[in-house]
This record gives sequence, C-alpha cells and structure tokens, in this order.
Amino acid sequence: MNNSTQQTPRLSSDNIKRITASILNGSDIPLRSEIEQQYVARDLPAGAEVTRFAPSPTGFVHIGAIFTAMICQYVARQTEGIYVLRIEDTDKKREVEGSKDLISRQLHTFGVEPDEGLQDDESVTGDYGPYVQSERKDMYLAFAIDLLNTGRAYPCFATTEELQAAVKDQQSKKLRPGYYGEWALWRDRSDEDIAAALDADKPFVLRFRSEGSHDTRMVFDDALKGRMEVPENDLDVPLIKSDEHRLPTYHLAHVVDDYLMRVTIVFRGEEWLPSTPLHIELAQALGIQPFTYAHTPVISIVDPSGGGKRKLSKRKDPEADVAYWVQAAYPMRAIKAYLLGLANSNFEDWYRENPDAALSEFEFSLKKLASSRSPLLDMKKLEDYAKDEIARLTQEHFNKEVLAWCQTHDHDLYDAMMADPEYTKRVLAIERGGDKPRKDVAKWSDVPGQFGYFYDGIFSERFVPGIADALEGVSADDQGAALGAFMATYDHTADKDAWFDNMKQAAESAGYALDRKALKANPENFKGGLADFAKIIRVHTTGKTRTPDLYTIMQIMGLQRVNSRLGSSE
Ligand code: GLU
Repeated sequence: MNNSTQQTPRLSSDNIKRITASILNGSDIPLRSEIEQQYVARDLPAGAEVTRFAPSPTGFVHIGAIFTAMICQYVARQTEGIYVLRIEDTDKKREVEGSKDLISRQLHTFGVEPDEGLQDDESVTGDYGPYVQSERKDMYLAFAIDLLNTGRAYPCFATTEELQAAVKDQQSKKLRPGYYGEWALWRDRSDEDIAAALDADKPFVLRFRSEGSHDTRMVFDDALKGRMEVPENDLDVPLIKSDEHRLPTYHLAHVVDDYLMRVTIVFRGEEWLPSTPLHIELAQALGIQPFTYAHTPVISIVDPSGGGKRKLSKRKDPEADVAYWVQAAYPMRAIKAYLLGLANSNFEDWYRENPDAALSEFEFSLKKLASSRSPLLDMKKLEDYAKDEIARLTQEHFNKEVLAWCQTHDHDLYDAMMADPEYTKRVLAIERGGDKPRKDVAKWSDVPGQFGYFYDGIFSERFVPGIADALEGVSADDQGAALGAFMATYDHTADKDAWFDNMKQAAESAGYALDRKALKANPENFKGGLADFAKIIRVHTTGKTRTPDLYTIMQIMGLQRVNSRLGSSE
C-alpha cells in the first residue's frame, strides 16, 4: 500500500477548487494545520491511556454500552489517563431527541461519568472539545479537503439507482458487493465529466480513494482480539455526505476525532472490527499514526425461550436497555460488580474477599478481558449479586432506600409505611440481622411485593385478589375449616414453640396429618400434611406462598390484624 500523503492530485486544480467551494458552501473554515495547533499533546504521565466512549444518541443506552464505558473508565483511571465521552450524532436520521442528556444521566447513574465531555448537569468539561460531533463539522471538512488536495478523496455523483444497479449486477455475478475497483463509478472519471456534473449542480458525496487490495493481507494487533490478519480495505467509502449539512461519515469522524482528542486506545464494540482495515488506511492517508484498537466483546444472553446463546437484542430483551435496570431500581453497585465479573474472571474472588471495598479499587486487567470471549448475561446470577448487595446494607441504610423508592414510585405504600413508623421499622427489620440475612429484595421495585401485605389497605387491594390462585385446588370449605381450627388454638402471647404446637394441634383437628409416613401410607385419610395446612394459614395472612417466618409475621402484625385476616369471614 502506498502510504504517502504527498501525491499528485488526480483532479484538476480548478475542479478541486469548485468541489471545495461546493462543500464549504460559503463558510470559512480553518486549515487542518490551524486546527491541529489547537489540539496539543496532552500533559499526562508516561503510559497514561486516553480512552473514549462514543455512543450515538439513538434514544436508548444498551447495557453493553455501560460495559464499554466502564472499561474505558477503568483503563484511564488505572493509568492516570483520561476517559472522554464523545457523542456521535452525525447520523441525523437515527438521532432521537433528548438522547444526549439521557446518555450522560445514565452514565452518571452507573457511576461511569466521563472525565471529559458532557456531564449529567449539562456542563461540559475538557479542552479537547467540542465533544459532540455535529459541533465539529469544520474539522472534518478541513481534513476531507486535505484528502481532496492530496488525491485521496474524490467526488462521486452516482445516484442511488445507479449504486443499487451496481450491487445487483455484483450479486448476479456472485461478486463481493461494494464500491471498489471497476464498481467505483466515479473513481477514474475525467475532469471534464466532473466539471460537467458540477455545472449541472448534481449532488455528490466525497469518497475516499483507497489504495488497498482485497488480495493483500493486512496485519494489526487488537488489544483484545490479538493479532488480526485480514484483507486490506479496497472500498472507496463516503467521507462527507451529500446533503446540505455536509456531515462526515463515521469513518472520517472517528479518525479525525480520535486523532485530535489524542486518544491512545479505541475501545469500541466488535461490530466495528471489519471496518478497522479501512480506518487504518484512512489514518495513514492522513499521515496519522493508526490507533491501538480494542474491540470489546458483545454481551450474549441465553434465550429465555430455549433458543440457546444469542446476542442481547434490543427488540426481544427488555434488559438490553439500561432504562430497564434503572426503572426496576437494581442497586447500581451490584450491576457494575456483575459487569466487572463478566469482564474479568478474577473479579468474583476479589469481590467476595472485599465486599465493602470501593469497586474502583479492583485492579482491572485487559488481558483477562481479552480471554472473556463472549460474556453471557445471566439474570439469575445478577439478581444474586443484587440480593447480596442489599442484604449487606445496614438496617438504617436499607430503610432509607426502601422509603425513598416508595416515596417516588408507590405513594400508597409510602403513606401506609409513614402512618405507623414504628410498625414499619419492625416490618423492615424482619430477618435482616444475624449472619444469614434474608435475601429476597434484589431491586427496590421488589419492595411492594415483599412488604406490602403488612399494610391493610395494600393487602386487600393487591394481595387478597391473588389468594384464590395461590390456594387453587383447596375448596373454600377446607380453607374456612383450616382457618377456624387455627384461630381456635391461636394465642397471641404464646412463644414460638408454643405457637407451633398450637398450629400442629389445629392441623390435626382439621384433618391434616402431622406424620408424613402416615400421610404417605393412607393419603385418603387426610386432607394433606402439616405443610398444606400451614400454606392455607400463610396465604390468608400474607397473600403469598413464600414469606419470612410466619410466627414473626403474626407477632409484628398484632392480634387485631391476625384476627381480621384469619377470623371467621361470615
Ligand atoms: N458511535 C458508534 C456507535 O454507537 C460507536 C463507535 C465507536 O465507539 O467508535 O456504534
């Protein structure tokens, strides 16, 4: 490949002038050299990495984006470098309003806010901005014009129909599709043809003039994927679009931005790996030292409908969008910890040994990340992380979080909780002390389901309707008889052992077997076992089949409440 930037222009100087004037459309932009002078080398210690997270504002933030942002943050912090957020909004058709702010807010929520770029309070930090691509248009144009002047860019006036016809032709001949070689319709057009097209005011894109060959292999080292040996790029891709905005394509914008922002390592999703030979060639054509690339693995999921492992899909999996995590109110530390575990296999051991340490203290390893080929999102495991995290909170912290969540998301429950703060304190403290705290809250939106039944209004409205289902197959008469028997022996002042003895007595009198063997030998003689009896009592007390210890629940609820839930319904 010819890497020289000093070539004889292939276009006449008159055409170059006219193309430049058309692209600039009257605006006055600085020269490339003037722009370069503004973006001086960063004053950082040796070995410091400048990383960047470069999302497009398409209306949602993928959990994989948080994964990449987190990697950018770790690598920058651990090398005393800088982590930049750059918003890539050159594809105006895909842009969704409000996305820029959404991105910075969510980065903040996940604790991966950038050192430079848009912050969640809408301020912008850093000296290498603007950090939004649509505000950097002059820079892309200056570099594009540089390529035009050195013969490495040319205008292409092909219409959509002509391009589609070429692809069809390629398909019918079983050829690789794309704008290359003889299919590069305007690559070798004469100056007269170009002048005529300009005279006719035909729209044009500015294309890269590739000098690569598909038959020659290029070698580069990806920091995560290792040594790559792939065909050179030979596509003459568009650099500047044809509409009046004259925005760049991703390819040009990436190379210009990462060069000017002095990025040292480009972390991006592995879907960009195939474009890397093009980006290396483009950088070389601009006389820019190609970047170190680190293509991050795509997060997969086990298809919940039994389809095996597949890419996490925005359409099928609500958990692909981080809004889901925020809405469900998972503890962010747990999600981050889980993602760190996906990135570095040794994280789990570290986390177990240092449960209270700041996650930033973990020594992140690119090597370990390189060996985690396709991280798999296991929701069950993530929930376990979250439950552990919540179980570790102090009682005070836990109560605060519960109330804060209810205050904004469940006003009825909040009001009920606040109406009797002492009762609520006891409710929220159930089985939380001791070495084996209860782990039934994975996210704050679990709170109503876990604690709501303690409050009468919430109980009758949200839990009572589920009782019939929970006790499906048990006749109303049997339920009534079980409750009657239970209440006949119930003594609110009894201790736990006595309470349990009373329950056994009640079960027996209602026709339930206390002895499993007896039940097994003669099932027809019984209505069921002690567990079946207890289930009826539990469900009528709480509306649920699984709860903390029922004796404790009744003690906290108080006699009146127990009576009102289990007493005669006639
Ligand atoms: N803006 C690109 C995207 O969202 C990211 C590419 C990059 O990180 O360079 O896919």
